[in-house]
Amino acid sequence: MIRTLIRGLLVATLLWLPLGGLQAAEVENVRLWAAPDHARLVFDLTSPAEANVFGLDDPPRLVIDLDDSRMAAKVDEIDLAGSAISRVRTGARDGGGLRVVLELERDVEPRHFTLAPNDQYGHRLVVDLEYPGESAVEDPIDPIEAMIREQEIAASRPSVDSSGSQERVSTEPSEALQQAQPHPKRDIIIAIDPGHGGEDPGAIGPGGTREKDVAMEISRRLQRLVEEAEGFRPVMIRDGDYYVGLRQRTQIARDQKADFFVSIHADAFTSPQPHGSAVYALSQRGASSETAQWLAESENRADLIGGVDGNLSLKDKDEVLRGVLLDLTMTATLNDSLAIGGQVLDQLGQVNRLHRNRVEQAGFRVLKSPDIPSLLVEAGFLSNPEEERRLRDPEHQQKLARAVFSGVQDHFRRNPPPASLLAWQRDNDRSTGGNEYRIQPGDTLSQVAARHNVSTSQLRQANELNGDVIRVGQVLRIPRS
Ligand SMILES: [Zn+2]
Repeated sequence: MIRTLIRGLLVATLLWLPLGGLQAAEVENVRLWAAPDHARLVFDLTSPAEANVFGLDDPPRLVIDLDDSRMAAKVDEIDLAGSAISRVRTGARDGGGLRVVLELERDVEPRHFTLAPNDQYGHRLVVDLEYPGESAVEDPIDPIEAMIREQEIAASRPSVDSSGSQERVSTEPSEALQQAQPHPKRDIIIAIDPGHGGEDPGAIGPGGTREKDVAMEISRRLQRLVEEAEGFRPVMIRDGDYYVGLRQRTQIARDQKADFFVSIHADAFTSPQPHGSAVYALSQRGASSETAQWLAESENRADLIGGVDGNLSLKDKDEVLRGVLLDLTMTATLNDSLAIGGQVLDQLGQVNRLHRNRVEQAGFRVLKSPDIPSLLVEAGFLSNPEEERRLRDPEHQQKLARAVFSGVQDHFRRNPPPASLLAWQRDNDRSTGGNEYRIQPGDTLSQVAARHNVSTSQLRQANELNGDVIRVGQVLRIPRS
């Protein structure tokens, strides 16, 4: 009886609401993020609204119809630069709806979804315009280089027979390559991933510094250092202020045949005390510390804030960890990650305090590439006011970038991929007695000495150097040890 009465009241309420009570949603703001392969439009709404999105031809347009809404933002003030949208028009539809028409310069594949409010934003409607046939990076890898790289990977990967035991290591492709053709002398490709971006600002310091900006500034400096170094080439995973999904970040690195992947962050903790740099590699088991666990969770949450659709964690479930072969590769890759991480940490320790003295491990999704050594560098804590100030300082940023790259460079000079210029130089050095070396950006005298198995004083003597000052391009004579 009572139940019937309540149900009756409920029905009455539901019927009554649309007539009198519901307020139309207001579009308070429209934001645009332009990426090389897509544009993302975000409508900030006062309440959730249903949308219908469809394309029209001749000329190409995209129509976004919102039920029971009105436009309060100035759409003609949106900066459309770098996107396929040439103009935005709006109009009211019969029955209280809003129509937004995007005039387009090319065909697009639209996709849309809504996002619930979070710390930074309220209700949002996200409309993605994907550009078919466009690459996510500005300068995709050359197909011949891609082929060489594939052969190298095939040669270095242990082959597994049907019983699952590891019996032989296949090296034929690389041998054939070396005998039949001149040495490819390819560049070592460093994938640089500035964390967060676009809709997702990452951590925000007490002074208002956004992690996505600091990450981009350090990454750009790193990009320049990699560009200048002979035998290396950078690939930017994110090349502007837009969001890239965590899984797509590793996918881009794989598509670009990266030899190494580094994700740059500047995180925050719940209290202002923690400070210093830290280096993270993937852990397949558990996090090595509570902070690592906490940070991995907050980094992985970026996809929800950045607006990949909400159930990513289900689709993502350990997809990369399938099969024996993959496991073997993963272990080898993880060992490389830890080795490079150790070098990077050493270098960072010379320019900043360290939050931890060893490479930490946790389940960062962005590090789950089975065959690319990957690190996440946390440049410092934005939540610490003093460190926030330093992270904005161009000089400090440059030091951090240089530290990261010299760690990476050291590793690859010692372990160059077979088809790389660095491998050729090393072998060539050996065959000619190896008596000269040209200084690269980031080199120090002691590193050059260690790499050639001579002491710093022997190196100084052979080159009549008084101190440790060397310059890029300078050719040093390497004495026989
Ligand atoms: Zn981050």
